[in-house]
Amino acid sequence: MCYKRMRILAAIICLVGVLAGCGDKQPVPVALPTTEAVQSASPQVTAAQATAAPSEVQAAPTPSPSPTAAPTPVATPETEPTPTKKAAPTTLPSVPKSNKLVMIDPGHQKVGNNAPEQVGPDTRETKAKVSSGTVGVKTKKPEYVLNLEVSLLLKAELTKRGIHVTMTRETHDVDISNKQRADMANEAGAALVVRIHADGDASASTKGFSVLYPSAAQPAVKPIAADSKQAAGFLLTGLQQATGQKGRGLSARDDLSGFNWSKVPVALVEIGFMTNPEEDELMSEAAYQQKLAMGIADGIEQFVNGK
Ligand SMILES: [Zn+2]
Repeated sequence: MCYKRMRILAAIICLVGVLAGCGDKQPVPVALPTTEAVQSASPQVTAAQATAAPSEVQAAPTPSPSPTAAPTPVATPETEPTPTKKAAPTTLPSVPKSNKLVMIDPGHQKVGNNAPEQVGPDTRETKAKVSSGTVGVKTKKPEYVLNLEVSLLLKAELTKRGIHVTMTRETHDVDISNKQRADMANEAGAALVVRIHADGDASASTKGFSVLYPSAAQPAVKPIAADSKQAAGFLLTGLQQATGQKGRGLSARDDLSGFNWSKVPVALVEIGFMTNPEEDELMSEAAYQQKLAMGIADGIEQFVNGK
């Protein structure tokens, strides 16, 4: 009995010993589990990689939408005033296309000056130095107020475009004759003078903008006649495109002191009729004033950059 047990024990010990000893000699079984482990690990790793990969991809797209979102707000602001300001500085450095000075002359002033003034160097005829202009039939707004409103918008627009601007007046309480305004531009060496006025007529139905330029019939203005007419054409086109209206066209004038004394190209924009009720009100609307300023600025920019 004991012998059998001992044999069984010995057999077990031997088995254990064989098994233990076989570890080194039987790499196969060891290798098998290893292979299995690798195989099973591989899919796991692959799965892990796959899992990781998508997460990275997801992470990548996440930042992508962010940049995409960034440009979106940039584009959105373009329509807003704030982004426009951001765009302005970017435009400014690239726009100093011209150092040429543009003078804006907002027509008239609060109190007219009826003292006589020679209409031009080629005539002894005289006219009042400067009047206070017409008045809105509906708005009751004086022309000198409307002229300055639009002129200031124009100045802002030109400045935004990098065009050097100066003005004959920025307040109503001044006393500057039409000849003196021309002298100011002559002395400043302006590349172009744009005079801003509003019209009046006996007929309430008369309406529409027009652009005046000095008539070459006046010997004194011959040197500036062609350039002035070209500028007037650009201004008219700019106004037409900005407002969608045809307007009343161009008009050569030899009776305006502000033209005849000018030694630099000059044009006068009559933005519309204050004696027409509808146009009178329209010209006081902020959106329409901005259109006028944009159209006039387009014309000025074309003239100044074309030189
Ligand atoms: Zn006027």
